Amino acid sequence: MSPASELETRLLIDGERVAGEGPHEAIINPRTGEPILSVAEASIEQLDAAVAAARSAFKSWSKTSPLQRASVLLAIADAIEAEGESLAQRESLNCGKPLHLVRRDEIPAAADVFRFFAGAVRNQYGPVAGEYLPGYTSMVRRDPLGVIGSIAPWNYPLMMAAWKLAPALAAGNTLVFKPSEQTPLTTLALAGLLAERLPRGVVNILTGRGDSIGSPLVAHRGIRMASLTGDITTGQKVLQAAVRTVKRTHLELGGKAPVIVLNDADLQQVVEGIRTYGYYNAGQDCTAACQVFAEQGIHDQLVSALADAVSSLRYGQDDDSRNELGPLISERQRNSVASFVERALEQDHIEAVCGGAIPARPGFYYQPTLLVGARHDDEITQREVFGPVVSITRCEDASQALDWANDSEYGLASSVWTRDIGKAMALSSQLQYGSTWINSHFMLPSEMPHGGVKRSGYGKDLSVYSLDDYSAVRHIMVRH
Ligand code: NAD
Repeated sequence: MSPASELETRLLIDGERVAGEGPHEAIINPRTGEPILSVAEASIEQLDAAVAAARSAFKSWSKTSPLQRASVLLAIADAIEAEGESLAQRESLNCGKPLHLVRRDEIPAAADVFRFFAGAVRNQYGPVAGEYLPGYTSMVRRDPLGVIGSIAPWNYPLMMAAWKLAPALAAGNTLVFKPSEQTPLTTLALAGLLAERLPRGVVNILTGRGDSIGSPLVAHRGIRMASLTGDITTGQKVLQAAVRTVKRTHLELGGKAPVIVLNDADLQQVVEGIRTYGYYNAGQDCTAACQVFAEQGIHDQLVSALADAVSSLRYGQDDDSRNELGPLISERQRNSVASFVERALEQDHIEAVCGGAIPARPGFYYQPTLLVGARHDDEITQREVFGPVVSITRCEDASQALDWANDSEYGLASSVWTRDIGKAMALSSQLQYGSTWINSHFMLPSEMPHGGVKRSGYGKDLSVYSLDDYSAVRHIMVRH
């Protein structure tokens, strides 16, 4: 890894790299708790300059052809791959993620999203032009919206940047993008790759906290749409800030994924699935397989097999290539996870069959934890923990599991585990979640939509539906 002095900390405004003129934010290494460097956030004047640059760039970028935009997106994908190692090292340093997993999973996924939207924008379709009133020809267009204000979280910084930038650019918009104040390093490196391939002003990147830069960005009169991936309470604040200018909003908010395990499920497959997708990225994943509803015939076997499996998860080892999960992003997040578990264990009916404590070591680690006996209406089953904590709840049958799974404010992701495809289809048709995996969890191909219902938000990431979200449908009618 390059020394901290070589890490890019400058913003990107109108094609120029400039130092932030606001207060400095310390960027902390979550494996050690030590500062890596500090990054100055943008000032309000710099926010205004970024919005002005994006508005000016919109005039020509919005007129480029799908082919021209696709060529640029493909070049960005190639650049992400070419710089993959240095991006992966920055992400691993900033987030504490095992380097080999960032290399294997996040870098290819970020590149693929740009490639997917390069193809998708050349293949859009819609209603047929025709004479819907005698003497008139109607046609429908999809046009870009203008400047998008886009705000990302800290759990997958580069991948979330790709999910937000690629569809918005493909649809012909320009952007002002803000990464999380805790994890700007890969986005600031990406800014250099974007500046070399995009006309000036098409993407502007500003660092800063939610209240000082995020909220003014959403409220800005020059912004036509605000897109957030973040917490539900942040989504509520974004909605409030968007009200005065009646902006289109796109909200990918929190999740609490139910995992319904029926008696006839393949036990080994379930155990491997929960071990992997319940604890991936230390559980800091809005789709994490964190809330298991197990039918009574399989419950005890599942608890025993899963306790062994979860105890074998490797973290905090000196040889990073052996680590399966890293620390939490911050001391605050680690303490929040610890207090969720403490409150759960104050209930007589809940027991930790593994984990349940902060390990005695530097950094923001939390032990991979499996809680048994949780009821469907306990806090631990109802609220997003965003840490390496999975709870198991025994249920009488599939129908009770379905009722309990749907009795939630969240609606992002879910899974059903059974050998009976009929039961799986019946359950998945009734689950009130944006996605349901059967005998799997967490798979997110670029072609398929990802996004929530209920308080998990609305609007889709990935897929052609995301292109729709970042464009306006317009009717053109010609009198003969
Ligand atoms: P967060 O809501 O604290 O922050 C997200 C971003 O919003 C950050 O860039 C932050 O600076 C900004 N922000 C904070 N307050 C703001 C305000 N008032 N106005 C505008 N912007 C503001 O979320 P986080 O802690 O970074 O990420 C974790 C959350 O994100 C979890 O709830 C998780 O479920 C959710 N998430 C959802 C998805 C999804 O696809 N649905 C994906 C990843 C993460």
